[in-house]
Amino acid sequence: METRRLRVGLLGCGNVGGSLARLLVEDAERITTKTGQHLELAAVVVRSRARQREVAIDDSLLTTDAQAVVSDPDIDIVVEVMGGIEPARGLILAALKSAKPVVTANKELLANCGSELFEAAATAGVDLLFEAAVAGAIPLIRPLRESLAGERIRRLTGIVNGTTNFILSRMADDASVSYQDALAEAQSLGYAERDPTADVEGFDAAAKAAILANVAFGARVVAGDVYREGISAITAADIAVARRLGFVIKLLALVDHDDGPDPSIAVRVHPAMVRADHPLASVRDSFNAVFIEGAAVGELMLLGRGAGGMPTASAVLGDLLDAAHNLTTGSAGRTVTLRQVPLRPIDELTSPFYLTVSVIDRPGVLHSVSGVLGRHRVSVRSMEQERTGPDGRARLVFVTHEALERDVQGCLHELRGLDVVQQVGRVIRVVDPE
Ligand code: NAP
Repeated sequence: METRRLRVGLLGCGNVGGSLARLLVEDAERITTKTGQHLELAAVVVRSRARQREVAIDDSLLTTDAQAVVSDPDIDIVVEVMGGIEPARGLILAALKSAKPVVTANKELLANCGSELFEAAATAGVDLLFEAAVAGAIPLIRPLRESLAGERIRRLTGIVNGTTNFILSRMADDASVSYQDALAEAQSLGYAERDPTADVEGFDAAAKAAILANVAFGARVVAGDVYREGISAITAADIAVARRLGFVIKLLALVDHDDGPDPSIAVRVHPAMVRADHPLASVRDSFNAVFIEGAAVGELMLLGRGAGGMPTASAVLGDLLDAAHNLTTGSAGRTVTLRQVPLRPIDELTSPFYLTVSVIDRPGVLHSVSGVLGRHRVSVRSMEQERTGPDGRARLVFVTHEALERDVQGCLHELRGLDVVQQVGRVIRVVDPE
């Protein structure tokens, strides 16, 4: 059966858009033979037509008029890989309103305006697909929406930012590499932006955590709801102690769902101590992975490239072919319906903690510090004392049992007030300790 040729309007031709254009042009025959879909690159929207591009695009396809492309009745499907909130939001809404399926990789937009876009897609009865928006090339959104649609998922734990994973892996591999060294290396390899704030302070991972909460639990969560801490304060000393204690430090995005009589969701991004034999500990360099824990499915881990032009374009192409299939068969994929689920704030969550306290090394100090921990219901699983030098100071390194965040914060506050405590150092949550 001869399939209809579908005309694709591509909004953006940078890293991802350029790679997708290359696949659509250079791989057209193979894609059609394999999938039966004829996709034709019909328009490519850019900011500057004059810019040199790595991919050869027919000049007649290039335009700066995005509005004309989304409202062109001859365009069947729109791919948005421009990034940012506006004009991407307005263009996607306009495309959906004219019943054009949309594929996007735009995590920032989805994490802030997802609800509005999902509703617009549902109203129009067309696809809004976004596999590439979280963890780039890894098939994650589709498994969550389809294969695991009926699963009672309890927790998603993700390494969803390749830049920070690269930095932490370099620091773990070589004890002489500082955070600044590893960041500079990530920048020279193109893994980190010149301004790395969005990655290293956890904003990018928080946007992805919000989208995961939307897709896996149907919870109305936006990026600003996500508790967030980055990795810029992690030192080589923290990494060394973690290794000695049998942990690695990773920046994790965690989404916990409680579907009991009092349903709630907790969404957070922070550095965490992960047991060295946990599958997430072996996720290295700029790779991403998401560990899924469900009641029936047990444990699953999806691993792969979280960014890069071609890996991300591969995920976009998969969505495009899905949208093309649905368009030609007159169907649409599952829509995302969001509902309000109470968000549990960080101070109500529990985990074991790693904490370091610098003290004056004299008799009775340990007793005073342990007393503070005990008063705040923080019980100690292990403690090490390191003599830090001839100045009579010592560093106490504690790993606690499961403790309530609020109690730990109260404990730290009281410790800071003790005259024998010189500094309360690092506090890192421990994830899945036993
Ligand atoms: P990029 O390299 O900066 O490319 C953006 C493209 O959009 C450029 O071609 C630019 O035109 C065009 N553009 C931007 N604003 C425009 C406007 N107002 N009007 C017309 N054209 C406009 O970005 P990217 O790295 O490909 O990322 C695209 C999207 O994919 C983002 O949402 C990003 O978060 C997401 N994503 C990227 C990756 C990755 O590895 N890069 C991974 C996952 C998801 P000019 O070329 O003329 O400047």
